[in-house]
Amino acid sequence: MQNCARFKFFGRLQQMVAATDLEYRFNGRPAVKDAIEALGVPHTEVDLLLIAQRSVTFAYQLQDGDRVAVYPFGCTPGLMEAIYLSPPTPELIAFILDVHLGKLARRLRMLGFDCRYRNDYSDSQIIEMALREDLIILTRDRGILKHACVTQGYLVGSQNVIEQVEEVLQRYNLLRKIRPLRRCPHCNGLLEAIDKDLIVNRLPPKTASYYQKFHICGDCEQLYWKGAHYRKIAAWLECLKGVG
Ligand SMILES: [Zn+2]
Repeated sequence: MQNCARFKFFGRLQQMVAATDLEYRFNGRPAVKDAIEALGVPHTEVDLLLIAQRSVTFAYQLQDGDRVAVYPFGCTPGLMEAIYLSPPTPELIAFILDVHLGKLARRLRMLGFDCRYRNDYSDSQIIEMALREDLIILTRDRGILKHACVTQGYLVGSQNVIEQVEEVLQRYNLLRKIRPLRRCPHCNGLLEAIDKDLIVNRLPPKTASYYQKFHICGDCEQLYWKGAHYRKIAAWLECLKGVG
């Protein structure tokens, strides 16, 4: 006869599973990590596992009758002794985004964050780069995050880019690290201030007469200044600060 355990999911994990309270039938002694992923939640999304009020690791082997509580980052109950499963966030935060998140990459770059993105990266390229360069994977594809070697990743919930940005800022506590005019939204290159005299021949005449301060992308040489487009970004930033 098959064994049976019950899983209860909390917080944002509830959106990833068919029901918040689920039965899992199994043979032998599977690792709790395998059961959670089979129910639909990538291991990167889990911060705390409790069985009979005891904190366990992903390697815990399920037993018949176990009742498992599964918590995401930022939604864990306060415990004296707990094993938190999310790895520490890297000191220098940098992301790699899957091919469907081009708009999010652009928005995060506008806020100054290092975002590797190409619309032709394969899943294996994304994983390889993430491991090699200590990058956090942002994706809407659970499959990437279920690879055993992936440790730093976040499953983006919303389909709306503004909400996606808010999710990422909140998950990695980035509100205070926002630096507009630091990175090029097109190519991720770093921006630097440049003398107007050196680029005046590239400016529309009205821009040349209204604006004095300019930035240039060190990689693609795109020019930036605090024009009408920047004012829209500034208004958006004010809304973001309201979120925090
Ligand atoms: Zn650029």
